[in-house]
Amino acid sequence: MNRETGSEPRARTIWAAAPLLLAITTALIPSFGNAASLSVDVYAGQFASVNSFLISNGNTMVLIDAQRKSREAQKLAELIRSKHQRLTHILITHGHTDHFTGIALLHSQFPQARIVVATEAIKRDIKEYAIYMDRGGATGAEPALEPALKPRSSENPEGFDYEGIIQVLGSDTLELDGGGLLELDSGHPPTEAMHMTTVYIRSLNALFLSDLGYNHVHLWLGDDIDTARMLAWKAELLRLKAVYAPQDPRIYPGHGDPTDASVFDADVRYLDDFMRIAAGAHAAAELITEMRTLYPDYREADFFLKYSAEAQVRPGDSRT
Ligand SMILES: [Zn+2]
Repeated sequence: MNRETGSEPRARTIWAAAPLLLAITTALIPSFGNAASLSVDVYAGQFASVNSFLISNGNTMVLIDAQRKSREAQKLAELIRSKHQRLTHILITHGHTDHFTGIALLHSQFPQARIVVATEAIKRDIKEYAIYMDRGGATGAEPALEPALKPRSSENPEGFDYEGIIQVLGSDTLELDGGGLLELDSGHPPTEAMHMTTVYIRSLNALFLSDLGYNHVHLWLGDDIDTARMLAWKAELLRLKAVYAPQDPRIYPGHGDPTDASVFDADVRYLDDFMRIAAGAHAAAELITEMRTLYPDYREADFFLKYSAEAQVRPGDSRT
């Protein structure tokens, strides 16, 4: 057998496959609606400098995160209504109150919008955090749970039905009705929260970091965040930087203004400074003063930095 005859069957295979390829391509065309041009509105909360994002394809919308205060969720609801488009989903990225408190108000005003999370673990985090807050488990860092979010129970049958209302997507994509695709990543290790969803929108080259990313806002390092989680957070930032920085995405952090890939190094540096200073500090006040000096223009010093320092440096700690 010579080369020519050997090549003929291969050529025939390609031509035979052509109609099949055409059929596949044609089948994919409707989902090229994913290339529908999307837009992002940022709702920057005044409390905790926490962001919500409204993603629109001009016809329908998906909301990412729901604010910490009902009064802010109300303003967010007004922004949503001003668009005159149908809100189909409210995606909660993780189980911290500054990202889910607004769901009660938004659910009452947009009952057709599905409240969704990427995984069972995030649904569990939300429920457990709400129950913890409701039982007065707050550290003082946050006021008690808002009444509308009190969990439903036999003693409180009118309470919020976390189990019934929050739905688990069970998919790593969320497609807007009418086109546009959100790619979800929930594979992050425990960092700022135990479980977190980040979102990438390829058509916009936009990366929504949730609370893996803070921009000129003091990082939340309170409660249960130990050194291992700070180190894991740092490693995850460096991993994400390696994946995304080469394509220079627009970055939407959980807290603070939209920015670019420089946020990865900035947050890594912050974590390094915080860990180093905390390890040598004898009192929370010492850590607060030094971090304020290093990061004078960062927001939430009286909230995130204060309670983070108090959690990480307790009176009588001798870490040196
Ligand atoms: Zn947050």
